[in-house]
Amino acid sequence: MREVLRADAMRALVRRARRRGESIGFVPTMGALHEGHLSLVRRARREHDRVVVSLFVNPLQFGPREDYRTYPRDAVRDARLCRAVGCDWLFRPSATALYPLDFETSVRPGDLAARWEGAERPGHFSGVCTVVLKLLHIVEPDVLYLGQKDAQQAAVVAAMMRDFNMATRLSVAPIVRDRDGLALSSRNVYLNDEERVRAAGLPRALLAASRLARRGVRDARRLEAEARGVLRREAKPQRIDYLKVVDPRTLAPVRRLEGRGLLLASVRIGRTRLLDNRYLIPKRGAR
Ligand code: AMP
Repeated sequence: MREVLRADAMRALVRRARRRGESIGFVPTMGALHEGHLSLVRRARREHDRVVVSLFVNPLQFGPREDYRTYPRDAVRDARLCRAVGCDWLFRPSATALYPLDFETSVRPGDLAARWEGAERPGHFSGVCTVVLKLLHIVEPDVLYLGQKDAQQAAVVAAMMRDFNMATRLSVAPIVRDRDGLALSSRNVYLNDEERVRAAGLPRALLAASRLARRGVRDARRLEAEARGVLRREAKPQRIDYLKVVDPRTLAPVRRLEGRGLLLASVRIGRTRLLDNRYLIPKRGAR
């Protein structure tokens, strides 16, 4: 595995590979890697001749009161993990390399980005889209790999790729969870022991709603109430930012499950914001 710091060097490497007829899979990350990230890299490894992982804590997607400065960083460990799962090129540009002083253009995503995370974190998805667009132009991969963990991010990026006629395809990989169900996240290290135990109440709440849906309940308010009840009892969150049954494609709230629904949630446990989601699959024929 080779570590690449400069955008022009990165592009030259992938272009040379492409001339040799090799296909390229790309996994963008902010580092502090865990099994969730590595599952994406392994998937890319299975499906492509060359695998690029980027490691870049993107300042553009953090709000002024968010954790940009304190976001966990460990480039040495990340490089070791990437090498172990078969990454070819680890692209880790500096912030000034991607955003020099005269940088001035950004992507403005549409309605998909307005709700949920977009409402909680103004400007967040503009920052995400801008960096993903830049990275896609540098790496020019056949396939971009994102995680279902950030379901809205995947939907917003998919819309950008469609709207900008991009040739890259998107592959969204399932959420990797800890043994107690908590979705792996770089920010889980912020949880203290007591909060970490409570945090497992979030996936249990989503699971409770999905079980109810499987038993035939299609009313979104009942499904949300079930999840909220478990969440309040078990996770005792400081705040529920949102907990909503949405259409998986448009992310608009639904009143009733017709086909598959997606239960999106963000809660605060202590000072840590946790994100999770789960598909709700209604029992066939149920009312
Ligand atoms: P991040 O480093 O948080 O920007 O995440 C980089 C990529 O890894 C994103 O596409 C995330 O959705 C994905 N990811 C993060 N956590 C998980 C997880 N627990 N399971 C699957 N994918 C994940």
